[in-house]
Amino acid sequence: MRLFDAHTHIDMKHFKNDREQVIERAKKAGLIGMVTSSIGPGSFRRTLGIVEKHQGFIHHTAGCQASRLTEDEAQKIISLIRKYSEGIVAVGEVGLDYHWVTDANQRKAQEPLFRLFINLANELELPLVIHSRKAEPRATEILEKNAVNGVLMHCYDGPRETTKRIADNGWSITLPANFARYRSRSEAAKIMPLDQILLETDGPYLSPTEKRNEPANLALGCKSLADLLELPMEDVAEATTKNALAFYRL
Ligand SMILES: [Zn+2]
Repeated sequence: MRLFDAHTHIDMKHFKNDREQVIERAKKAGLIGMVTSSIGPGSFRRTLGIVEKHQGFIHHTAGCQASRLTEDEAQKIISLIRKYSEGIVAVGEVGLDYHWVTDANQRKAQEPLFRLFINLANELELPLVIHSRKAEPRATEILEKNAVNGVLMHCYDGPRETTKRIADNGWSITLPANFARYRSRSEAAKIMPLDQILLETDGPYLSPTEKRNEPANLALGCKSLADLLELPMEDVAEATTKNALAFYRL
């Protein structure tokens, strides 16, 4: 069985003491690769070293934390992405965050920064990985007007109508390993065609267990999706792995 973690944060301090064991456990669990998302200049540089050490297994997608982003930081990240674009498989996670950002003006202020990253992805001919927590409909509108290449709605949790639009647009979503706990995510998993679904852990976050989340837990999300769709786990593993390899052009 081949599994692929389409979105994790392996550079984070949560993995500082046992990162190599975490990567070994992922391989033992059947993962053939993972995409790690850097979220700032420091995170970007740390990720370069990790990817270098695990070439062919760990891939880099570079973005930001939408809820805390400033113009200055956006420009720093953008110049790093330009400089190292050869080693980057997608721009993101980038997008809008309405969970932490509740003020209407501050929400609006995220949009021009989001567009900077969309334009960058268009320019570099890279796909986009989107963070759209509680902002899925607005993020979708902006992307429909501006995005040229592939779009992956990471950790997707949007309403039905938006899910249908995403499916019609030919975009993809990722489901986290604990997705079955959320009715909305289970519903999205049924609306989306299987060839537009990828699996992720978002480790160290969104754990399906009591402990820190890590890429080896991807198998739990795969099992949940297989149960939900009433398909053999091997088929779901193979389909979602193929989708990830195609989306990131690996
Ligand atoms: Zn993430």
